[in-house]
Amino acid sequence: MSAEPKLINPSEIKISQTKMLIDGKWVDSASGKTFETINPATGEVIAHVAEGDREDVDRAVRAARKAFEEGPWRKMSARERGRCLYRLADLIEKHFDELAALETLNNGKPINESRSADLPLTIECYRYYAGWADKIEGKTIPINGPFFTYTRHEPVGVVGQIIPWNFPLLMQAWKWGPALAAGCTIVLKPAEQTPLTALRVGELALEAGIPEGVVNIVPGFGETAGAAVAEHMDIDKVAFTGSTEVGKLIMQAAGRSNLKRVTLELGGKSPNIVFADSDLDAALEGAFQGLFFNQGQCCCAGSRLFVEKNVYDDFAQKLVERSRKQVVGDPFDPKTTQGPQVSQEQFDKIMDYIRSGKEQGAKLLTGGNRVGSRGFFIEPTIFADVGEDMKIAREEIFGPVLSMIPFKDVDEVIARGNRTMYGLAAAVWTKDINKAHRLAAELKAGTVWINCYDVFDTAAPFGGFKMSGIGRELGSYALENYTEVKTVTVAL
Ligand code: ADP
Repeated sequence: MSAEPKLINPSEIKISQTKMLIDGKWVDSASGKTFETINPATGEVIAHVAEGDREDVDRAVRAARKAFEEGPWRKMSARERGRCLYRLADLIEKHFDELAALETLNNGKPINESRSADLPLTIECYRYYAGWADKIEGKTIPINGPFFTYTRHEPVGVVGQIIPWNFPLLMQAWKWGPALAAGCTIVLKPAEQTPLTALRVGELALEAGIPEGVVNIVPGFGETAGAAVAEHMDIDKVAFTGSTEVGKLIMQAAGRSNLKRVTLELGGKSPNIVFADSDLDAALEGAFQGLFFNQGQCCCAGSRLFVEKNVYDDFAQKLVERSRKQVVGDPFDPKTTQGPQVSQEQFDKIMDYIRSGKEQGAKLLTGGNRVGSRGFFIEPTIFADVGEDMKIAREEIFGPVLSMIPFKDVDEVIARGNRTMYGLAAAVWTKDINKAHRLAAELKAGTVWINCYDVFDTAAPFGGFKMSGIGRELGSYALENYTEVKTVTVAL
């Protein structure tokens, strides 16, 4: 990792791989088709990538099955599997500058954030799971009678992994780390908007000595390649991160096909709750970053900001002032703090939500407009006095649009915070320890942050209550997603 980012000219970024990875080889799609991947800061095409479909997924699954049942992966010791993961982490670190630039080019996130968040968290994730590879243990269980019973935690088999575009490298790491540590083989479908870093990591995986067929990457669209993964009869488990709407389709497809195991990490409408007795400066920054980080494109974004009535107006005014400091523009400029949204489609969707907020009578405090005339930039946008029935308070916007809602007391804010179909995250800002823990217990969310926001660590589980998902990623919990428990009983 180099200390100082050099100024990057996007046209000089090397794109080393645009084909798909099947059985250790870089190949074209069966149809020969490709799709465009674009630079969201300019709208220009940066590469044409092999477009996978059913037949390609099928080939990839065959390779993954062979690698799982017969390949060296099966015979490799758990410790050696761990070493492969350590080597992959080292190689990602060695190519830190290149990967950070490629992520920013394809996703549009500010280069400073690729460098300070995405890359370090990705490397950490592979290292963390490398350490787990030889520590996945069963139990011995005292049962009645002259028997000896023990459990084995075996890899679930071939896993399909479908990931989104908001944190391409990191979502790949969250999926690959535990799956590889457990001894599974993989067919990954990256998001159609951001396939480039996944393919580069595929190259590094081969260089790290991960055997052929263990990781396969099929870029392509959701309705074709993604659906083929979800429906495949020979995929034992599917892990998906994306919208709740598509999560339902994945689950239906698993039910229709082979009852493959399903884990889902889906949308959110997370309450971020600020009490008057909190450190209001810290809460202000937490409220701002909790929503605007990554252009608002976070499943756990604190998109419903509840602020206690007696500090609400002042807080709103300070938030508007804070938003003026946001530097929206060229993601390769180290001073930039907000880049473009990922695509025209997302841009249009967010602008529709802004329109609906205005139409339904929310008070637009700041923002609401496009920035510039090319690329998909949107001003940081803050609505106040958002009614809970308004679309912008109920639906996930996935963009730089914050909804402020005033509240009076603890019971009320717990009830209102929970009044959503989602349950991914929540945050509470207060100096009152009793209140903090009461809310932590009562908010229906997979993660509750107290006096902080977006604190992620590879060791701490993450996932959703309610329609925000099924299962937990990260930590030791993620290993359960990729293992089957086998009970063995021996007569003595
Ligand atoms: P977003 O709306 O934010 O793009 P999606 O849930 O549509 O989120 O996409 C997340 C991932 O799911 C992407 O890799 C996408 O290609 C994939 N996907 C979309 N539709 C389907 C589908 N019907 N079946 C399987 N995967 C899909």
